[in-house]
Amino acid sequence: MEVVNDNTCSWINDLTPRSNIQTLTSDLDCEWLIVGAGYTGLSAARKLAQLYPNQKILLVDAQLAGEGASSRNSGYLVDTTLNDGFTSNRELDNYKKKADIYKLGIEAIKRFIKEYQVDCDWNECGKYFASSKEEDKKILENFSNTLSKLGFEHNLLSNKDLKKRLGTNFYNIAIHTKGGILLHPGKLVRAMVDTLPENVSLYENSSLLKWKKVNDIVVCNFKNGNVKTKKIIFATNGFLKSLGIKSNYNFPITLTASMTRSLTDAEFNSIGKPNEWGVLPVRPMGATIRMTKDRRILIRNTAEVHNPYKMYKSELDKRSINQKIGIKKRFPQLPDDIIQSTWSGIVSRTRNSSQIFEKIGNNIFIAGCYNGSGIGVGTLFGEQIAIKASNEITKEIQTIEARNKPTWLPPDPFLSLGVKTRLIYERIRARSEI
Ligand SMILES: Cc1cc2nc3c(=O)[nH]c(=O)nc-3n(C[C@H](O)[C@H](O)[C@H](O)COP(=O)(O)OP(=O)(O)OC[C@H]3O[C@@H](n4cnc5c(N)ncnc54)[C@H](O)[C@@H]3O)c2cc1C
Repeated sequence: MEVVNDNTCSWINDLTPRSNIQTLTSDLDCEWLIVGAGYTGLSAARKLAQLYPNQKILLVDAQLAGEGASSRNSGYLVDTTLNDGFTSNRELDNYKKKADIYKLGIEAIKRFIKEYQVDCDWNECGKYFASSKEEDKKILENFSNTLSKLGFEHNLLSNKDLKKRLGTNFYNIAIHTKGGILLHPGKLVRAMVDTLPENVSLYENSSLLKWKKVNDIVVCNFKNGNVKTKKIIFATNGFLKSLGIKSNYNFPITLTASMTRSLTDAEFNSIGKPNEWGVLPVRPMGATIRMTKDRRILIRNTAEVHNPYKMYKSELDKRSINQKIGIKKRFPQLPDDIIQSTWSGIVSRTRNSSQIFEKIGNNIFIAGCYNGSGIGVGTLFGEQIAIKASNEITKEIQTIEARNKPTWLPPDPFLSLGVKTRLIYERIRARSEI
């Protein structure tokens, strides 16, 4: 099957459409093939191009480069998280390992932005972990302890503070962490595409259908051509499993999000003219909701087991209704028809929320599974998997590899059933927060 994405993502539609799209139409040989051109694959390609200026580096994507989850996310570049999928790394030591990786991820993005002078609506305004439920205070106090022990600056906030800062009366309790950045994910990833080095050949709308290892090379079949490569990096994240990679360690989850049009002056005044902000839920299945700097509201309140290749318009429409309700709950004074677009995106999860960063054969490498931290961590992992594939070691690789490996998952249908049940349970627990 081939990825068929909707064309309704506001972040993508903010950008100028690209021209000169090249697809794979013949047989090719190369030194390096990278499959997947999101943050991970684009960073891997950029790093390989620096390391091997005279080698042939191919980067392929099933759709337009960067227009998968890397453009479709909520745009939080995180330094800390409370929930990763279903888990939350309660032990201090594990939490620190995770946060060390996030820190390196933020540094990787900062380096890229500085080097190429990228404008991606960067805002170091921190983020909120918020709940409408007073009883979630206990969770936030525990989280606050963890943050304090690790030296993350933060404040506990009440309904009154939140109403002033967010323009909604909905939340009763929150932690604001000073670290963490809000950005425009589409602008960021587009800059990564636009600045690809010359010795990287990009082929788009070219889906890898099958691959196999033959002696020391990897043979990859596409619709209109085959590629023989000496080394391959799989950077397909939510599509790792469908390519038969680490199938018992990761699974795809489909998320949907909606974005409103910009609020009018009157609408913006009616909610108290807040500065840009981003809220993450305290309960795992609650809504992520964000006010952008151009006064649009983004909401993401679904995560589900779904066919990762396509979501039909009628299915998106149903989810959009849910998202309208989520916005109305928080901003009852706003009109009903302000949602401008709804889209889906695919992420990859592991059971214990650890990422995948691995060599699985002497010339096959994989990086993926970042839950809600792929902006920074994907960018970091892309660079570092390229270095690992060059048989080098860095401090960053040591930090990445210090984290636990993903744990084993049962095969389908048990896996799907288990994940669906867990998602339903979490959704019920978070029903007030959706
Ligand atoms: C709604 C939503 C909200 C999110 N919010 C956040 C957030 O706020 N912060 C954050 O850090 N992360 C967030 N994420 C997660 C983040 O977007 C991902 O972790 C990140 O995009 C992963 O980057 P990637 O390059 O590994 O994968 P992707 O961006 O998914 O790129 C993988 C690429 O592989 C391609 N591909 C797949 N199969 C094939 C094939 N067979 N042949 C060729 N190419 C193939 C795909 O077309 C795709 O372009 C969110 C995701 C979604 C969907």
